[in-house]
Amino acid sequence: MNPSTFYVVATPIGNLLDLSQRAIEVLSQVDLIACEDTRHTGRLLSAYNIKNKTLSLHDHNERQRQEYVAELLQQGKSIALVSDAGTPLISDPGFHVVRYLREQNLTVVPVPGACAAIAALSVAGLPTDRFTFEGFLPSKSGARQSKLNELASEPRTMVFYDAPRRAIDTVQDINDVLGGERQIVIARELTKTFETIHADTAANILTWLNEDPNQLKGEMVLIIEGAHIDPNDIPEVAIKTLKLLLGEMKPKKACAIAAEIHGVKKNALYQLALAMK
Ligand code: SAM
Repeated sequence: MNPSTFYVVATPIGNLLDLSQRAIEVLSQVDLIACEDTRHTGRLLSAYNIKNKTLSLHDHNERQRQEYVAELLQQGKSIALVSDAGTPLISDPGFHVVRYLREQNLTVVPVPGACAAIAALSVAGLPTDRFTFEGFLPSKSGARQSKLNELASEPRTMVFYDAPRRAIDTVQDINDVLGGERQIVIARELTKTFETIHADTAANILTWLNEDPNQLKGEMVLIIEGAHIDPNDIPEVAIKTLKLLLGEMKPKKACAIAAEIHGVKKNALYQLALAMK
């Protein structure tokens, strides 16, 4: 290992074989492994017969540990950072320490590997040329709906982490806020025994989830197709009607009436109405 180097090492998100050869070498040879949970990482290390020293580094002690970690690096030690699963810093601890070490001009090196968001995106079949990673959706419905409202006219594919036990409530909110026609993909238990990747409209996914309680277990990534609003596709006269109605009533009702009058898709008008807010 290079001395005075901090390696940010990705670990598996389920299937233990998804640990790169380079990650195994780094974890075996560094002087110390900083881990989100030393017991959790201990299981991974023993599966690979790696014996090494560990140090806990999680959300609650990251800032206190950063100076100690920097000191060890300055003394010439090499250190690896791992989280419980996937790539550290991606909805996981490590941001503060990496920023601090970079400010001290210390060397920080990535050892890439599994990341649930990227794994899900790679099989979703939605555009990936541009996408936005939104992390965890709020757990309370009101806050979640506000967040979805903010993103209603986002044209890029949107990637979220969410708990499957909340999936019905979340998809219900997507259905209500973004419309039942919006395409979504649920990527659950990736790389594990019950891996499920299911793509459909929000309305159909809602039915599917309600019919199969097994889909509410484990871990999941939720991907929402970006909004397609090209005002050029909506007749000028329909936009005029919509604007008039929006002054008189709530967007949902205004869009339904304008869609009925002009034979335009309600969802397209709704996205336009949100963009006009
Ligand atoms: N750092 C991790 C990464 O690179 O993906 C993410 C850590 S975040 C605390 C944990 C969340 O990632 C879970 O709640 C879930 O949304 C997602 N996740 C992790 N493993 C997963 C898997 N095997 N299948 C689906 N989602 C997973």
